[in-house]
Amino acid sequence: MRDFYSIAIDGPSGAGKSSQARAIAEKYGFIYVDTGAIYRTVGLAAFRRGIDRKDEAAVVAMLPELDIRMAYDENGAQCMYLNGEDVSKEIRMPEISICASDVSAHGKVRAYLLEMQRKLARENNVVMDGRDIGTVVLPDAELKIFLTASAEARARRRLLEHKSKGIEISFEEVLKDIQYRDQQDSSRDAAPLAQAEDAWLVDCSETDFDETFAALCALIEEKLNIPSEN
Ligand code: C5P
Repeated sequence: MRDFYSIAIDGPSGAGKSSQARAIAEKYGFIYVDTGAIYRTVGLAAFRRGIDRKDEAAVVAMLPELDIRMAYDENGAQCMYLNGEDVSKEIRMPEISICASDVSAHGKVRAYLLEMQRKLARENNVVMDGRDIGTVVLPDAELKIFLTASAEARARRRLLEHKSKGIEISFEEVLKDIQYRDQQDSSRDAAPLAQAEDAWLVDCSETDFDETFAALCALIEEKLNIPSEN
């Protein structure tokens, strides 16, 4: 019997992993861990320092100088701190998505960040989202979900998200960003985006947030046999 439950949600960019994971965490009283935010923080640091993000040695050399911390605000939102500065907003900028994808392709960067993610799961009930949670970070997670949707459906949703935050960007740019990251995240050697053999595939191209959420909750309640808190 494990002390804590882990739910792993993997899938490509823009499938709605983070909003679903956040809602699941709230409903079942888990903590939500957005692992993409950790890679985004490293990507931001490389961007600010003008480091060639494709150069693994250069990115790795920077890591010991970074103090990356995660905290939760009063609304339960995950905040990221880089050397003491709250960078939660800045890491969401579209150009930082690309930086995150670039730095996350390096095996040594991934290895460096692995323990930070595993520790959270050892000490809490977690719902953790990313690209390699079910395959590498938490291979023993009690429930693994692979949440996906067509690139166009994901780009449409991301565009609305950016607009609501006042970020000016076109549909074509968002789609290009998603396709770039899909390609890079799936084809890299180090922990590529992949569905774990024992993960449940949920395609949300044709379902809205509530319908997808209901499907995920049904899976959780059936497989983990846990009641909701809310
Ligand atoms: O999830 P999000 O889109 O914020 O992640 C940003 C980038 O970080 C992704 O495109 C991916 O390259 C990388 N990432 C990763 N492994 C994870 C989470 C994110 O490689 N577990």
